[in-house]
Amino acid sequence: MGLESTMIRILILGGTTEARQLAKRLGSRPHFAVTVSLAGRTADIIDQGAPTRVGGFGGAAGLAAYLRKERIDALVDATHPYAATISRNAVDVARATGTPLLALRRPAWTPVAGDHWIEVADMDEAVGALGEAPQRGFLALGRQEIGVFERAPQHFYLVRSVDPIAPPPALPHAAYVVARGPFEEAADRALMEAHAINGVVCRNSGGAAAYGKIIAARALGVRVIMAKRPALPDAETVDTVADAVAWLNHVGSRSIARGV
Ligand code: NAP
Repeated sequence: MGLESTMIRILILGGTTEARQLAKRLGSRPHFAVTVSLAGRTADIIDQGAPTRVGGFGGAAGLAAYLRKERIDALVDATHPYAATISRNAVDVARATGTPLLALRRPAWTPVAGDHWIEVADMDEAVGALGEAPQRGFLALGRQEIGVFERAPQHFYLVRSVDPIAPPPALPHAAYVVARGPFEEAADRALMEAHAINGVVCRNSGGAAAYGKIIAARALGVRVIMAKRPALPDAETVDTVADAVAWLNHVGSRSIARGV
């Protein structure tokens, strides 16, 4: 059997640190051929350590066609926990095409002593949770989520995003920070103090890279308005890159034994 015929072809649905780490770990293993797929939400594409394709597939049918065309042996959904559409498509398509699927997900943060969290279902509720009286909110959110805060222009907003927001939202009292994580607690605390922030609005991303603002809020006695994670479909799930590698090794040895 030639090397080509024993290659395990893996598609990682990415956009997260873990997806990048997994691709890099697999890159050193000669029997895995890895492609990372990104939605293309940020202007700069950072090196994924593996061949990368960018942009939507064209719904579930497009993803299914891609898996067939590229003869993908295993699919890893390592997308952001709030990217629910692509995760649903991954589950449906894996089932329909018989492709083994693993979800790699960071566990959600849970509040600890000293945290003051208000959990909300979505950004509409987050705006409401700020209240009527003017507040000073830190919006650590995706660009698409900022527009809804135009409904509450009485507040000051510190908006942090990976890329500049263009056109800028119609917020009369706002400051903008363009930065990509990881973010340190000390820097987040200094930023929040400099802008006299009294509320953080964010998503429950999990992991260490975005946790600095949560520790800073705790230290400063600032409340956190936390958007809950969307419901995701059932799939075999691991929460570490090492466990994803182990699962892929297992899928790989099964495929090689079958002579794939
Ligand atoms: P989504 O709602 O799950 O996906 C919308 C569409 O984007 C999908 O149907 C798919 O298009 C395409 N897509 C998403 N991830 C893809 C991937 N890895 N490769 C190829 N296509 C992909 O996700 P979203 O619109 O990207 O984001 C939803 C929320 O998650 C937002 O709040 C966003 O800020 C947050 N988030 C996303 C990412 C990310 O990398 N996607 C990173 C951080 C945060 P087709 O149907 O055409 O295939």
